Amino acid sequence: MAVADTIECVDCGGRCHRLPFDPPELGWEVGDVVRYRCTDCHDEWFLEIDGDDLDDDA
Ligand SMILES: [Zn+2]
Repeated sequence: MAVADTIECVDCGGRCHRLPFDPPELGWEVGDVVRYRCTDCHDEWFLEIDGDDLDDDA
């Protein structure tokens, strides 16, 4: 599973978009922290990437 473009907001159930949208130039790495902002309540969420997120990366 790749790093998600969007996640569901824990607070309001709205959609949270990844910021920035584009992946890093060198690709995602385990331990990277990805920021998401909710379009409904504007809360921000931070997810740390673990190995399961990068299965389809070379
Ligand atoms: Zn929200």
